[in-house]
Amino acid sequence: MASVWQFFSHEGDYADLNEAAACSRLAQALSIATVDGPTHDETDWAAFDELGEFFRKSFPYVFEAAEVEKVDHSLMLTLHGQDASLDPVMFMGHMDVVPVVPGTEGDWEHGAFSGHMDDAYVWGRGALDMKDQVMGVLEAVEYALRHGWEFRRTLMLCLGQDEETLQSGARSMGGLLARRGVRLHFVVDEGDYLVTDLAHLGAPGRHCMTVGLAEKGYADVRLVARSAGGHSSNPYGGTSLARLAKAIDRVASSPWPAELIEVDRTMLAAIAPYVTEGPLARLVAGGRASIDANAQEIADAFRRDPQLFPLVTTTVAPTMIEGSSRQSNVMPQDMSATINFRILPGTTVAQVEERVRELVDGLGVEVELVADVCNDPSNTSRADGAGFAALREAASRYFVEPGDGSPLPLVPSLQTGATDASMYECVCDGCLRFSPFVADADEVDRGVHGTNERITRRAYMQGIRFFVRLIQQELL
Ligand SMILES: [Zn+2]
Repeated sequence: MASVWQFFSHEGDYADLNEAAACSRLAQALSIATVDGPTHDETDWAAFDELGEFFRKSFPYVFEAAEVEKVDHSLMLTLHGQDASLDPVMFMGHMDVVPVVPGTEGDWEHGAFSGHMDDAYVWGRGALDMKDQVMGVLEAVEYALRHGWEFRRTLMLCLGQDEETLQSGARSMGGLLARRGVRLHFVVDEGDYLVTDLAHLGAPGRHCMTVGLAEKGYADVRLVARSAGGHSSNPYGGTSLARLAKAIDRVASSPWPAELIEVDRTMLAAIAPYVTEGPLARLVAGGRASIDANAQEIADAFRRDPQLFPLVTTTVAPTMIEGSSRQSNVMPQDMSATINFRILPGTTVAQVEERVRELVDGLGVEVELVADVCNDPSNTSRADGAGFAALREAASRYFVEPGDGSPLPLVPSLQTGATDASMYECVCDGCLRFSPFVADADEVDRGVHGTNERITRRAYMQGIRFFVRLIQQELL
């Protein structure tokens, strides 16, 4: 039995939402295998076109009212509001899903693309990440239009095609809006699909939901040690493997500074009223002023915590090594290692590369940036803007602490992975990553990009209610 339901409130709202029909549409959307290929040319775009057709058939009010633009295989829908002077709100998402890991197909209780639905769950790849939110948003807009609600503010729905790989769809749509001079009021993209337990931060019995305001950057740096190889009986000067190992060690054991960045500080300020235990209690007791005054002490404490350290520093993970000798008596020839960095906002890919060059200087190792996968950290969206307040207001009705019924706080967070949301930073200072479609932590850990991805029907409907409410609040 899911335990995330204990946080739900007002499930009776919009009583004419048809659960069976909505869940069956989600199941059908999950059965269409919009899987990312390794490249644009190796992707089955017919599946994306099929999904687009399915949207059109399922949401007649939306597609009747919207201006629909296809940007490559991504979809941009504009529902014009009556007051053109108001900046549009955007609900966004991605239509693509990651593949099922080869060899694990049989581990699925119901096939990843079977579109299976039972009394409790809708199953399939994308049930959490993130056809639930894409379909749920469309359900909510369809509901609003079917009830004759007239939008004062324009609503845009931007659905990307390759968030999990190249992000080319969202990049194109963001660029298009920038060239048109559009500014967005705020953007809502997927978040972490969780209700988060705050016990670890010293607030036992309290929970929150997170709103991602920024994303860490990403860099792969390759270290290359060249050698002609030869017989291992004369390894004068060391083998390529020895030089490479020394280089990896220098990079991996030279930590980046720990810093409490702005997102961390707004996060701590949001939870400070609930922190009653542990070392953090004293450091955040006076709210933002204490947090600023104790910033370095908090950052250092986070750095020592296995769960929290990615929030305060650039992380360094050697992940791949290539070129080993096949025989113990033969020296290896050219070898390479790849080191993956997740870069804290405030630092750049160029600075990471520069530092690696300095660290391995003199070891006879070359440094190459794997340029096509690198991204600087995103901007940091506003926690004090209209978007955050709007999410807080809608969420306060639907997600509450089971003990006292108080609304779960919405807490700013730093995302450690990349999403399409950053592609709209050029037209918006409030790109918010938030999912009202939630699951228990073990479901998210196992299901997102893993096996037996599924969402409870009850959580799916609660997410739809949230978006209907948000529309009522912000667009009418
Ligand atoms: Zn996603």
